[in-house]
Amino acid sequence: MSSGEFDLRSRLRGFLVEDQAPVPQCSRAACNNAAEYRLEWRNPRIHTEDRVKIWLACGTHLDFLRGFLDTRGFPMRIADVHDPVNEEPIRDSPNY
Ligand SMILES: [Zn+2]
Repeated sequence: MSSGEFDLRSRLRGFLVEDQAPVPQCSRAACNNAAEYRLEWRNPRIHTEDRVKIWLACGTHLDFLRGFLDTRGFPMRIADVHDPVNEEPIRDSPNY
């Protein structure tokens, strides 16, 4: 019995180590796809100019998430998920 427990625990530890690997995932609810894009945005009504919120998007959901922000008029910009995070304030008139 005790050897079985030991096996289980070492297998769980293997899972935990794997979970720590940084695999960025799409921010869309229930989507497990790997993220390809990063949407940097803010809500001007509640966020100050220097605040940058980040969503991650797979290729399938980039348009959905961008549309969500766009219909609300939130300033945003889109980067490749592997690009370094841009901490510059997001301008009100995105040009893309
Ligand atoms: Zn997705």
